Amino acid sequence: MIDNKKRIVVLLGPPGAGKGTQAELIIKEFSIPHISTGNILRGAIQEGTSLGKKANAYMTKGELVPDELVIKLVEERVQRNDCREGALFDGFPRNKTQAEMFFRMDYITENSKISAILIDLPDEEVIKRLSNRRYCPNCKSIFNLIHKIPKKKINDTYYCDNCGSELIIRDDDKVQTIKNRLKVYHSTAGPLIEYFKKKNVLHVVDGSTGQKRVSEEILDILT
Ligand SMILES: [Zn+2]
Repeated sequence: MIDNKKRIVVLLGPPGAGKGTQAELIIKEFSIPHISTGNILRGAIQEGTSLGKKANAYMTKGELVPDELVIKLVEERVQRNDCREGALFDGFPRNKTQAEMFFRMDYITENSKISAILIDLPDEEVIKRLSNRRYCPNCKSIFNLIHKIPKKKINDTYYCDNCGSELIIRDDDKVQTIKNRLKVYHSTAGPLIEYFKKKNVLHVVDGSTGQKRVSEEILDILT
């Protein structure tokens, strides 16, 4: 019976594909926790666990946390009660090595139904979406010059609808930065996606169809 299976979802896709929005939908719909490497690391560091301390040592040096340590942190996290019926992984596994470790975790049992969902988006579309983002440094609102256009514009400067502050382009959203992020994404995600495909758990969703259509497709895959 599919209903009794542990529902394990891995969300994949380039920056700007809307993974965050879809993650929120999935965790609500299926009552499973959202597990990202970022929030696991922050949690472990805050709680001062021994793994957290080890991870923190790498991060303060600006180094990547090694795969072995990441997997230990994930294994620790999924032992908690809220993961009993499944979990949504986002940003993990990050590469093929982590994916191999992922499939070997005790948490993944015969009773697990794994779905890796790739929200696919061409590079040009990623660049278009991200480079059109504008950010309010004061109230942290995010706007987009394509579909969430700020009302006030003087010359080439836009102002925040909420607080009136001048909007800025974050470093992360500058074209050269986006291109670099895409390069990193393709070099690690390529082999990772191939791996999930070989394991017969990969589903590809076209991210350019818009948020609503993507949500519908994801729910179709998972139900
Ligand atoms: Zn603002």
